[in-house]
Amino acid sequence: MSTQVAHPEAPVFPIRKPAFAERFRFIRPTLPPFETVTDLYEKVYLDGQITNSGLVGRFEAAAAERLGVRECVAVSSCTSGLMMVMRAYNLKGEVIMPSFTFFATGHAAAWNGLTPVFADCDPDNWTVDVASVESQITERTSAIVAVHLYGNPCRVANLQRLADRHGLKLIYDAAHGFGSRYQGCPVGQFGDAEIFSFSPTKLLVAGEGGLVSTNDKTLARLLRAARNYGDLGAYDPELLGLNARMSEFNAALALAGMNLVDRKLARHNEIAERYTAGLTGLPGVTFQQKDSADIHTYKDYSILVDPAKFGISRDVLARQLLADNIETKKYFYPPLHQQMLYAQYHKPEKCPLLQTERITGSVLSLPVYESLSNETVDGVTAAIRMVAEEAKNGAYSNVAYA
Ligand SMILES: *Cc1c(COP(=O)(O)O)cnc(C)c1O
Repeated sequence: MSTQVAHPEAPVFPIRKPAFAERFRFIRPTLPPFETVTDLYEKVYLDGQITNSGLVGRFEAAAAERLGVRECVAVSSCTSGLMMVMRAYNLKGEVIMPSFTFFATGHAAAWNGLTPVFADCDPDNWTVDVASVESQITERTSAIVAVHLYGNPCRVANLQRLADRHGLKLIYDAAHGFGSRYQGCPVGQFGDAEIFSFSPTKLLVAGEGGLVSTNDKTLARLLRAARNYGDLGAYDPELLGLNARMSEFNAALALAGMNLVDRKLARHNEIAERYTAGLTGLPGVTFQQKDSADIHTYKDYSILVDPAKFGISRDVLARQLLADNIETKKYFYPPLHQQMLYAQYHKPEKCPLLQTERITGSVLSLPVYESLSNETVDGVTAAIRMVAEEAKNGAYSNVAYA
């Protein structure tokens, strides 16, 4: 007799044993061996130079080499990096960005007093739709902020042409993109600047941290001031900066973690392929498309669940999977234009965001991390198939859902 108790939010039907006897973690970053971090950090610590000594500079140099760019400026987070890039470029007016992103993208604009203008996303690769961006350009537009969603590179060439044609800055939120490649070239080389995140859910983990990657030397100089209150040493700040330096300890984590990125990237791609293979052909389930010449990091792996074909909604599926001890996320739902802070900027008559609403309303993110075993991945796809079968047989017909 089963003594398993379903999660309180989960549907009570069907009554059966959960697919997994125990809950496993949705995310578990693989960290570098502790000694590799302490070896780097020890000297800094013993010297009593725990900020502004050498590790941040070493990390910046290593990142610039890997990414193939002139300048990398390490900062406290991707959010602060985005904020400071917008400030350093002295952007005004409107900034066009996808609504389908994490809210930090919007926050960076709002903190600068800029008006976020939301563009729709591409129905296949889910990054910002270039035609939709174009339709939103006005005389008040100063920049485009595009997001390499889950690490899937944006339509870089088309975005660059559009930005050039209209004289706009092009900034990439590359929070998910450390390790991504667009047509063979590392993400980090594109637009006016790209900003990475090293917070614990990303591929390269520094505890907390971010990095601005750019070929614009003037921008890099301003950012070095901006992260240091705006001051470059004259005790007379050149711009309204922040304290947004990366600490030496975070730099030690980032440096040690760089060695793990390629292995993680390969494993994330294996897991993504395994999920896709395991779920292909299941009615109502579709996948994010990527260009075969690009490299995706699969920072997240998500499917779309069409209730008309799958039999139940994404939300009911998520609840049942939780009862099956499989944690999922809805990255990124609700989209920005449906959030309290951002609804005011949404002009449905100007830009209806149909794809964004369709995709975010049906998106379900599955666990993906290096140490996730093939057995677990197969268990997740088997559970989703089982729920689909149960749904077809009406097992969830009594579940009230919107
Ligand atoms: C995580 C994330 C950020 C914020 O990164 P932090 O380093 O935590 O500030 C920004 N944009 C996107 C798309 C993200 O997923």
